[in-house]
Amino acid sequence: MGLTLTSFGAARTVTGSKHLVEVGGHKILVDCGQFQGLKSLRERNWQPLPTGVEAVVLTHAHLDHCGLLPRLVQQGFRGKIFCTPATAELTKIVLADAGHLQEEDAERANRKGYTRHKPALPLFTEEDAARAMTLLQPVGYNRPVPVAPGVTTEFLNAGHLLGSSFARVRVESEKKTILFGGDLGRYGRPVLPDPTPVTEADVVLVESTYGDRLHDSGDDATRLAQVINETFARGGKVVIPSFALGRVEELLYWISFLESQKRIPEMPVYVDSPMAREVLAEYRTRLNELDPQISDMVARHEREAMAFSTARLRVVATVKESMQVQDSKTPMIVISASGMATGGRVLHHLRRTLPDDRNTILFVGYQAEGTRGRQIRDGAKFVRMHGEEVPVNAHVDSFDSMSAHADANEIMRWLGNFTRPPALTCLVHGEPKPMDTLKARIERELKWTVKTPNQGERISL
Ligand SMILES: [Zn+2]
Repeated sequence: MGLTLTSFGAARTVTGSKHLVEVGGHKILVDCGQFQGLKSLRERNWQPLPTGVEAVVLTHAHLDHCGLLPRLVQQGFRGKIFCTPATAELTKIVLADAGHLQEEDAERANRKGYTRHKPALPLFTEEDAARAMTLLQPVGYNRPVPVAPGVTTEFLNAGHLLGSSFARVRVESEKKTILFGGDLGRYGRPVLPDPTPVTEADVVLVESTYGDRLHDSGDDATRLAQVINETFARGGKVVIPSFALGRVEELLYWISFLESQKRIPEMPVYVDSPMAREVLAEYRTRLNELDPQISDMVARHEREAMAFSTARLRVVATVKESMQVQDSKTPMIVISASGMATGGRVLHHLRRTLPDDRNTILFVGYQAEGTRGRQIRDGAKFVRMHGEEVPVNAHVDSFDSMSAHADANEIMRWLGNFTRPPALTCLVHGEPKPMDTLKARIERELKWTVKTPNQGERISL
C-alpha cells in the first residue's frame, strides 16, 4: 500500500483537523480536532474516529485541532500525543474546559427536554479529557523524535499561537518528508514570532482559511486608540469580546503600547474570563518563545511576571469580582470571552453595557454567522440574552486585522521559501471558495501540483 494520507477533517472546510498517515501497517494521526459551527458539521463529531492509531502528533491547542482527543481515548487510544511543551499546557486548559462544557450541555438538554436523543449524552466527559491529558508527550521545537517505527516528527514554530507548530514528519522506508502546516501565523505582528521558513518537503499541507482575502492593513494602534479615547470622553466602557486563547495577549500588548506612548489615558483594564486567566499565566512563563518585541514590553514593566500588563490591569479571579466590574460605572476596558458572544462572562458585561450609548462594544475576531456577535456587529437593534431582549444603543466597532491566520499574500510568502517545489501540495482548513482561489493562484504563480482533498479521500504519496 506504500504511504498514504487521508483527511478526516478540515477537508474543504475550516474545522475538525484530522489527517491520518499510514505506512507499513503503522497509523499516525496528525491533529484530532472538533468540527465547529453549523449543526451539520458538529454532527460529524459523533462519527467513529480512525482505529488502530499508534501515535498522535498535535500541531497546536485550538479546539478544532485538539478537541476530539478525549473521544479518541474513549475509543481505546493509549499511545502518545506528541506536541510542544506549551501546546501540552494549553491543551490541558482547553480539554478541561471542553469536557466540562460537554457535560453541562448534556445535563441542560436533559433537564429542559430539548433533545431528540434520550438521554442526551456528552461527546466525552471530564474524565475522558483528564485521561487524554496524561498521554501528552511534550517535545521541544527543532528536535526530531521517533513517533512510530521508521517515522520521526519535528516541530517548527508556526507563529499562530503560543506553542503552535508545523509538524515535519519523516518516513524512512519511503525516504519522504511530509510537512503538516497546522495553522499558519502572520508576519511582522507583535507577541508571536513570524512563521519559521521551510525550504523543502516532498508533501506540504497548508491551511487556506483566508486563501482569497487580504487582512486590512490599517494601523491597529491608531484605530484602537481612537475607540478608547472616544469612549473615555463619553464616560463609557469599552467591552471587547475576545477568544480566550491568544487574542487577549495581543490586545494587552497594544493597550500597554498606547499607554507607554501616552496616546490613551491610564484607565482600568479588566480581563474577565477564567480560561483567559490561565492562558495569560502560560504566556507570561514562556516569553522566550514569543516575538522579540515582547522583551521591550517586559523592560517597561521591569519584571517578567508583569508582561502583558497595563498601568491598571486586573485579571478578575472570582464571580463576585466580575459582578463588581459589571456594576461599576467608571470608564474602563473589559476584555472577556467568548469571542463571538455565544456564552461565557462577556454576556453579563454586554447585557449591562449594550443599552447605554456612552459605551462601545469592540469586536476584534471573526464573527461566525448565527452568533450573537455577528448580530450585534451587523447592526441588530435588540439581541436576546439570558431570556430577555436587550436594546443595542452602545457604539459598535470591529476590526479583523488582529486575526491569527495568515492571509493569501502571507501564505504565498511562506510557500515562497521553498527552494524546490514539493511533489504535492494539499490545501486544507478552508471553505471551498478561498481554497479553490488559492489553488489557482499557487498553480499560476508557483506552477506546483495542488490538491484539495475531500473528507475521507485516501491519497497515495
Ligand atoms: Zn488554530
